[in-house]
Amino acid sequence: MVQSLELELAAVTKAYGATIAVDAIDHRFSAGSYSCLLGPSGCGKSSTLRMIAGHEGVSAGDIIFGGSNITDLPPAKRGTAMMFQNYALFPHLSVLDNVGFSQKMRGVGLADRNKKALQLLELVDMADYAVRLPAQLSGGQQQRVALARALITEPSVLLLDEPLSALDPFLRIKMRLELKRLQRELGISFIHVTHSQDEALALADDIIVMNNGRIEQAGSPRVVFNAPTTEFVARFIGGHNVLQHQNARVALRADRLQVLKSAPQAADHLTASVVDVEYLGSTVNLALDADGAGDLTAALSEETFFQDPIEIGTTVFLKWKPEDVHQLAA
Ligand code: ADP
Ligand code: MG
Repeated sequence: MVQSLELELAAVTKAYGATIAVDAIDHRFSAGSYSCLLGPSGCGKSSTLRMIAGHEGVSAGDIIFGGSNITDLPPAKRGTAMMFQNYALFPHLSVLDNVGFSQKMRGVGLADRNKKALQLLELVDMADYAVRLPAQLSGGQQQRVALARALITEPSVLLLDEPLSALDPFLRIKMRLELKRLQRELGISFIHVTHSQDEALALADDIIVMNNGRIEQAGSPRVVFNAPTTEFVARFIGGHNVLQHQNARVALRADRLQVLKSAPQAADHLTASVVDVEYLGSTVNLALDADGAGDLTAALSEETFFQDPIEIGTTVFLKWKPEDVHQLAA
């Protein structure tokens, strides 16, 4: 089994000319954890990943891996491996030769590298396709081959840049489970770049939310989802309302809003009109126009909603528990 190590970014910065793509970020990726770098397009996720891989130089700061400074090491000497977004398989090489390629470059003999490549193909359930060319595989199968090819170097950290984005939604969910299973079985760290909140929530032990080259918030999916610390995170992670509450911006989960048809006795409620009703299967979302708070969303369980359906145009009253209000940084 490969040893798993802590990876630390210390004030890591990437500038492309005048563009600061990554702005002095600090983060520790725990050994053997599944981390997701999450954020909108252009926020610096891929640049961060490429600096960790060594495919991109660091403009300032240090990358420390298992106690050693690897900032200036070439990619093959770092103990990391990268799986690219487009898989980057060699079209003229068989699946087996694609997976064994890095071993060949390291001078490993044919028999040994084929044996190893086949083991990796078994790990990703692709041994039966060893003689095919990449063009003869589906997208999901190509992805498994790309995974096997990255893992053959026995990295302590596997870096994945939007690994699921080329797959259709059904396959994406299936492969998501497989990535998580692989990470658990191998016991190494995975650092996975995604712009999908669902993907990050489902996969990660730790989510690192990035915006504009900086880390907005890092923590477990539950902490990041339940208690966003900035307005950006509350809006990006979804499922939240951001509102002004006693001189502060706060986040309030859409599924924690109580929607009442008659006004409650207590003064601390909002009055709103129902602008739209969206049926989403397990939940029903109400779009609300609230007096003094603007547009809000309430997510009711399907069961709650259909016990007493609410029509568009109805006036409703909104309440919530104080503990469901999360203060946002100014
Ligand atoms: P993400 O992966 O989050 O979409 P990137 O790390 O690819 O973001 O890009 C971050 C910023 O850096 C963007 O503004 C992008 O245009 C810029 N950028 C990325 N790569 C280069 C490059 N090779 N040269 C110049 N600018 C780049
Ligand atoms: Mg990217």
